[in-house]
Amino acid sequence: MKEIRFIDLKSQYLDYKEEINRAIQTVLDSTTFIHGKEVEKLEKSLAQYVGTGHCISASSGTDALLLSLMAIGIKPGDEVITTPFTFIASASVIAMLGAVPVFVDIEEETYNINPGLIEKKISEKTKAIIPVSLYGQCAELDQIQDIGNRYNIFVIEDACQSFGAEYNGRKSGAITDIGCTSFFPSKPLGCYGDGGAIFVNNDELAYKIRCLMNHGQTERYNHKLLGINGRLDAIQAAILNVKLKYFEKEVESRIRIGSRYTSLLSEKVITPIIKKGRTSVYAQYSIRVNNREKVIKELNQKGIPTAVHYPIPLYGQEVFNYLGISPEDFPVTEKVCHEIMSLPMSPYLSVEDQDYIVKEILDNA
Ligand SMILES: *Cc1c(COP(=O)(O)O)cnc(C)c1O
Repeated sequence: MKEIRFIDLKSQYLDYKEEINRAIQTVLDSTTFIHGKEVEKLEKSLAQYVGTGHCISASSGTDALLLSLMAIGIKPGDEVITTPFTFIASASVIAMLGAVPVFVDIEEETYNINPGLIEKKISEKTKAIIPVSLYGQCAELDQIQDIGNRYNIFVIEDACQSFGAEYNGRKSGAITDIGCTSFFPSKPLGCYGDGGAIFVNNDELAYKIRCLMNHGQTERYNHKLLGINGRLDAIQAAILNVKLKYFEKEVESRIRIGSRYTSLLSEKVITPIIKKGRTSVYAQYSIRVNNREKVIKELNQKGIPTAVHYPIPLYGQEVFNYLGISPEDFPVTEKVCHEIMSLPMSPYLSVEDQDYIVKEILDNA
């Protein structure tokens, strides 16, 4: 029986093995494990790739989001608007600072926050909006940034799944006040541990984020701000410096493989809709079926791994019970989270394996 990998990190490593091993060895020989040349080089390359004045590397996507909220001064009692159909970190960082996550339902086509519903949820306490570019396609970022500008609130793109995606000729991460991404191993650009980055044009914000991630230090042992240890380490930076060279080629493969899934599956199941002027990097390739349990069981029995991103909306998570939110206000999220499922996806998925997966879905959905 076939054993398909959900995300084929092994083939990717074997492809770049010599170069990655050499890059790691260089860091080991230098014994500069924090800060240093590799980190500086990475931040320059990332800022150039995304097209922002600054890139600040971080210890994870979660810390990137947390640091961004800290930098804009989010305090207890503030409200931050986001989507309930995402990974927990998009909202946990808000609550971590004592602020209140305010959820807005999603669009049925892209599963991203519905911009038309945002203004109704803005109050005097609203300090920021965190649109999430889910599965690798940007949310309606221009429209959302415009709302942010009109109400004088910050917009922070959670680009943890969309690094490399294009939005009307610009790159995810560069479109709103602040962009945050993740280099968790399974993300489109992944390192070999935890990592992330913050993208910003504003010099003052960039400086503040750098201080905050370095224990709030402005000069050595001079702490003006309450900060955290939120740095990316040099080994991860060295690995990313290698992988970034091949990233555009991988994005092309992702788009080719994602589009191929869509053309083979769209008659039978609901496939991703990519809006005009955008690309998706397909961090997940997710379809909707109305017999999910059965499809998952059949696929798994045939050696095809699957996942559900995400089975429980964030307002339904126990940790957010205290918010007392009722699901009736989120009809689209409710529907989608019962039907959505993700298929194996990586730049290394072969045509043969993809055909095998497609056949099982056409037979069982
Ligand atoms: C992965 C992810 C995060 C968190 O990134 P980490 O690097 O794992 O901390 C945040 N938001 C979204 C949407 C993610 O997919």
